[in-house]
Amino acid sequence: MPIALAAACLGLVLLVGHAVGRLREAERLVARNYAESLTALDGIRNAASELSHLRVDHIRARITADPVERAKLSDRIAERYQSLSANVGAIAARSRPALISQAAVSARDSMSIWHEAMRTASGRQEEAADLDELADGAQTQITHLAAATERYGFSVHKTAEAAIADRILVIEGIVGAMVALVPLVAWLLILRIQRAAAADAVAPPSSRAGMEARAEATDQTSHGPVARADDPEWTPSPPDMTELVDAAQEGLIFTDGDRRIVYANASAAALTGIGPDALRPGEPASATLADLLPGGPMESKDKVRLTDGRWLRVGRRPAPDGGTLLVLADVTDRKRSDDRAEATAVSLRTALDSMSQGLCLYDAAHRLVVANRRYEEIYGQEAGSLTTGMTSTEVLERSMSAGNHPGSTLSELLGEATRILTKSDRDHNFQELAGGRIIQIDVSPTAEGGFVATYDDVTERWHAESRIAYMARHDALTDLPNRLLLAERIEGAITQASREAGFAVHCLDLDNFKQINDTLGHAVGDELLCAVAHRLTACLREVDTVARLGGDEFAIVQAGVETAEDAAVLAQRIVEVVSTPYELAEHSVTIGVSIGIALAPADGMAPDRLLKSADVALYKSKGDGRGVFRFFEAEMDDRLQARRLLEIDLRAAFAAEVFELYYQPIYDLSQDRISGFEALLRWTHPTRGRVSPAEFVPLAEEIGLIVPLGEWVLRKACAEAARWPGTLKVAVNVSAAQFRSAQLISTVREALAETGLAAQRLELEITETVLLADRGSTVAILHALRAMGPRISMDDFGTGYSSLSYLRSFPFDKMKIDQSFIRDLTVENGSGFIVQAVISLGTNLGMTMTAEGVETEAQLARLREEGCDEVQGYLFSPPVPVSQIAGLLEKWNGAEEAAQAA
Ligand code: C2E
Ligand code: MG
Ligand code: MG
Repeated sequence: MPIALAAACLGLVLLVGHAVGRLREAERLVARNYAESLTALDGIRNAASELSHLRVDHIRARITADPVERAKLSDRIAERYQSLSANVGAIAARSRPALISQAAVSARDSMSIWHEAMRTASGRQEEAADLDELADGAQTQITHLAAATERYGFSVHKTAEAAIADRILVIEGIVGAMVALVPLVAWLLILRIQRAAAADAVAPPSSRAGMEARAEATDQTSHGPVARADDPEWTPSPPDMTELVDAAQEGLIFTDGDRRIVYANASAAALTGIGPDALRPGEPASATLADLLPGGPMESKDKVRLTDGRWLRVGRRPAPDGGTLLVLADVTDRKRSDDRAEATAVSLRTALDSMSQGLCLYDAAHRLVVANRRYEEIYGQEAGSLTTGMTSTEVLERSMSAGNHPGSTLSELLGEATRILTKSDRDHNFQELAGGRIIQIDVSPTAEGGFVATYDDVTERWHAESRIAYMARHDALTDLPNRLLLAERIEGAITQASREAGFAVHCLDLDNFKQINDTLGHAVGDELLCAVAHRLTACLREVDTVARLGGDEFAIVQAGVETAEDAAVLAQRIVEVVSTPYELAEHSVTIGVSIGIALAPADGMAPDRLLKSADVALYKSKGDGRGVFRFFEAEMDDRLQARRLLEIDLRAAFAAEVFELYYQPIYDLSQDRISGFEALLRWTHPTRGRVSPAEFVPLAEEIGLIVPLGEWVLRKACAEAARWPGTLKVAVNVSAAQFRSAQLISTVREALAETGLAAQRLELEITETVLLADRGSTVAILHALRAMGPRISMDDFGTGYSSLSYLRSFPFDKMKIDQSFIRDLTVENGSGFIVQAVISLGTNLGMTMTAEGVETEAQLARLREEGCDEVQGYLFSPPVPVSQIAGLLEKWNGAEEAAQAA
């Protein structure tokens, strides 16, 4: 009881203290009000100055002669007036004191009158004085408004300050008195309790009776001391403290050992919802209350929920007589916020545990606050084994014990963790765990000075990305570096070269690889490329690089090259190693290689330039007969440029169909007449002039243009020959490139069918190079062609490889001896014997022998002598356009045939 009373006193003191605090707060608010009124005053002063500006603008607008300026000013006036009138209007609406709001209304009205008068003024001089007066009036009203606001604000402030100071004084006095009264109250209370204890001592043993007696005593006390003045037991009653106890926010209920109410304060009724009647002294504890008391179903709960949903905190104190003191407090709000916090915590935990990333939150002292399930999984920890408060070092130690970091010491791991913590670039925060797992770690600081680390198992992504990065720089077939990586290696070599020796770039191209691919199939081609890659790698040192650029092209960066000789030695070795026969799974194959070499720094110091120069040199080595290497020379580049330009022109000429066919007679020596004509391509370029087929045909072969061009020649020649007299033949040159596909057969068939030319009148001239390529399929095509009727001639015999075995591989109908032999035919120690031998050989093999390039009578005489069948050359006629054929026929074969041709 004394404690409760003391608490009540204390509560009262706090209450009063609180009131004083609130008063001080009020004082501050008044001060702030004053400040605000000063701000309002500021606003009014601004309005006054704005009004002056407006006045000036109005005057300017009245006097200016410039209509543009007037329009500008009138816009500004409208804008200014609108804002000014809105400001003053707002003061009129907001100010509570009538004095101020009236002053504001007057100011606004006089401003409006003046503004309207200005706006509608005609501009006459006589108006000026009136307008000025109106403006002065408006300005005076604003000044009044300012003065009224200032006066009012100041007086309010002063009055409030005085009033508040008075009240604070009074309250502080009360508090002092209260504090002085507390010991007195306490003393009286103790006296009263002692008296009650004495009464208990004489009362019947039942504690209920004792309680009743006390209740009665309490009851009687309320009747005042006079009622007991004659009672010998009477001792002075303490002042009635019920009010103090009732004022307590907590509910206080005393029950006796028989669970009857001894006392309940006002808050008890309000908090429990039990009516005040049921809480009178002596009443048995109601059902609700009994539930709360010891032995009740809610005995063990310190918080109970009432039927209306509120939560009570229940404090139980046993009294010495078996009774109970219940202290009740409404904790509904607290309980709700606790529940919310708990629900949030549960959701958070669930969210953390369902994250796909591992997470650890550490506080400022690097102690673990929380680690989620995924973290434990990634680092092989038992569920729940990482507990709050563990240091980051302990967490690392556990990871080590789980075997995640074989070969790493704790200090190394700590160093790594520190690096990750301090590194801002998360893209590189990777940790490799045992078993090759890669974890990406992302660390962010928290507002509390700690940090949160997330752990993402990116193993699969990492491997996929590494693979992609590798593939982007390597050739899928041979696994050698590709063009991209080669360029990087050349860049690296350039950096090195500036300090040490130079380096060489070799460009390699396999000779006749296409034929292997075409005849043996791509699988064999691929197998061969891998075998070549393997041999090339074996030829090089660690510091060198070999790359596959695509198809059958390779490139080598040879480091530390001091002289050209160093590069030549390697190139020679490669030529030898690569051309050694290969034993593939099902075939034995031989291939050659041509090499072009560029030297750095002599030939350039940029990857592109070096590769291009090496490529130019490669082109040269191909032209020089393959299987060789050539160093880059500046002139080669010029030649290559020229060739490229020719290529562009050639393609354009084909597209524009500017080619022509000329015809050169073939003279039959036994019949002494022209037996046919050879069709020869002619190309006249607008600036180059006549371009020789010896120049453009090889290029057309190289770029594949010869196939459609050859087809055009064939159709055109057949079509024109079909108009010639019956027995005249036409010879058409067919390139080796046209033999690469069986399409040639259908082209010939179609040309004959379309033009109606008898197949026997067509001769197809091929060179030895056709047979060089792939003899099997070429011979098959030749047979197929001849089976259709045309005759097959071997052209330019004696140039090329002139292997007699070619003559055995296919029974040619005709052999044309190359003009280079005919040229020297009649000179001393010339080619007479060769020509003689060739004619005799060909004749014995059953071939028609034709001599090309016959220019003199002597050559003709000798050829007749040797038994040659046909001749062709300028002696008879150079190649001529089709229109001149009739003339030639007339000259050599007589007018009759010429007339048929015309
Ligand atoms: P070719 O088939 O051996 O043609 C004979 C070449 O010798 C022609 O050169 C011709 O003009 C030239 N010629 C003829 N008589 C004489 C002579 O008495 N003295 C000299 N010095 N030359 C003579 P052209 O027309 O320049 O053709 C060169 C080569 O171009 C041809 O050699 C042939 O291999 C090729 N060619 C020409 N037209 C075609 C064609 O339509 N298709 C293919 N694939 N190649 C063609
Ligand atoms: Mg020819
Ligand atoms: Mg020829």
